[in-house]
Amino acid sequence: MQDGQLSLARLLQHGTTVHSKSEVVTWTGDGARRETYGDLGKHAAKLANALRGLGVTGDQRVGTFMWNNAEHLAAYAAIPAMGAVLHTLNIRLFPEQLTFVANHAADHVVIVDGTLIPLLAKQLPEMTTVRHVIVANGDASKLEAPAGVEVHSYGELLDAQPGTFDWPEVDERSAAAMCYTSGTTGDPKGVAYSHRSIWLHSMQVCMSDSMQLAQHDSALAIVPMFHAMSWGLPYAALMVGASLVMPDRFLQPGPIAQILAAEKPTFAAAVPTIWQGLLQHLDANPQDISHLREVVVGGSAAPPSMMHAFQEKYDVPVLHAWGMTETSPLGSVARPPASATGDEAWSYRYTQGRFPASVHARLITDDGSEAPWDGESVGELEVRGPWIAGAYYSGEEGVEPDPEKFHDGWLRTGDVGKVTPDGFLTLTDRAKDVIKSGGEWISSVDLENQVMGHPAVAEAAVVGIPDEKWDERPLVAVVLREGQSVTAGELREFLSDKVAKWQLPENWTFVQEVPKTSVGKFDKKRLRAFHSEGKLD
Ligand code: ADP
Repeated sequence: MQDGQLSLARLLQHGTTVHSKSEVVTWTGDGARRETYGDLGKHAAKLANALRGLGVTGDQRVGTFMWNNAEHLAAYAAIPAMGAVLHTLNIRLFPEQLTFVANHAADHVVIVDGTLIPLLAKQLPEMTTVRHVIVANGDASKLEAPAGVEVHSYGELLDAQPGTFDWPEVDERSAAAMCYTSGTTGDPKGVAYSHRSIWLHSMQVCMSDSMQLAQHDSALAIVPMFHAMSWGLPYAALMVGASLVMPDRFLQPGPIAQILAAEKPTFAAAVPTIWQGLLQHLDANPQDISHLREVVVGGSAAPPSMMHAFQEKYDVPVLHAWGMTETSPLGSVARPPASATGDEAWSYRYTQGRFPASVHARLITDDGSEAPWDGESVGELEVRGPWIAGAYYSGEEGVEPDPEKFHDGWLRTGDVGKVTPDGFLTLTDRAKDVIKSGGEWISSVDLENQVMGHPAVAEAAVVGIPDEKWDERPLVAVVLREGQSVTAGELREFLSDKVAKWQLPENWTFVQEVPKTSVGKFDKKRLRAFHSEGKLD
């Protein structure tokens, strides 16, 4: 066979010619601006010419500090295709972490959305390698450039460029993009994706038993493009010609509902907290969303009550998937086996899902042995495969992979769970969130799912807190639905036939909001800290 290189330049050329009529739609707050993939091809060529003009060569890094929109998609397309490396900066990182990742990746240029100038401006003087900032969708004169940095207007810079670019041949194993983990412990870690890994991952995203993205789809990408590459949607969409609907900065439930009504996407992806918020909004403001053939939920466990609400009230199936920044991110997808129907099918859909052929998985127990896939034995999940990170980016050649995270060529996920003989993964927890009570483990995820099954509860997060007698006991932080009330005693009663008696939490707190991480997950570290500082009681 020939040795065809799986390069993103090829993906860009394919998507923007064969699928030239597909569109990227960017929400503007009261309507949408639209760009066809044909025009996206010219847009990307202009951006590549502009970046070359600013001295971007070789595998230099270009940072993006942007919402999900057409300009960000052009950056996704142009930067790797020209041979440089796209570095998506998480706009919600703590300031010092933002500076850390920009310096660690040695970003040469940063493209920033106009509305995000104030956030970037504070850190820019500390970003020692950045020489150019390009302001998209905003007024470049609003950004005061520190010494040694030039500021450009995106529109002016691109207008002057030709709409074609001589895309170079790039080795498929070279870096195309990078994304840092959100650094819940220690400094964020850089993951570099190759052209080849992104290509193979995109094919998986489109496979029938995966997310099934296809040319007839229009996919609402709520998951930010700085969070694990928007779960692979942008490149997968270009591969098959699915249209993309981008919410830009309009991420509250109300605007999301408006986008759904106006654009009627067929597919959407977001973390559970976004979907919980949308459900609450829809309860108060009913709307037909059955144009969604499916929504994918991942990033943290999808509460079964939420999956049922979508299916039963709105006729929208929820597809549960697991992954991490280090796994590109698609690791497993919960499509029930063909033979399963009714409650049996539901029991499969609650799981984190089945690994595709390219993701090789094993469970490692505390004593280092491999746990069998018997649906009961628990261990830390380790994975390997062509779109799984083999090491973190160190900036230097020949650095050994961090043994805390990599083990004999396998990625240690830090997730704990079990796998059935037919390959369905159920995660009980992140290793660091497991609650150890009297020598037994309590799954915080399981408790959360059960509590969120109560009709008065909007959100529930569970953490372990120190306990003299039992070592640790669960603490449940509950957010009530608007206008609802329930007591801790009633919630305990509600749980009494759902979890073992010794697991029933005696510590409850009612809060306005559960603290969230930079990518919208329950921030259990902060929840534990709030508790120990007495801020929760
Ligand atoms: P961060 O580490 O900052 O949360 P990632 O998005 O890379 O960023 O997080 C990956 C982790 O999210 C996984 O290791 C796992 O703990 C959790 N996760 C992802 N998907 C699921 C899921 N479907 N169910 C439970 N946990 C999940």
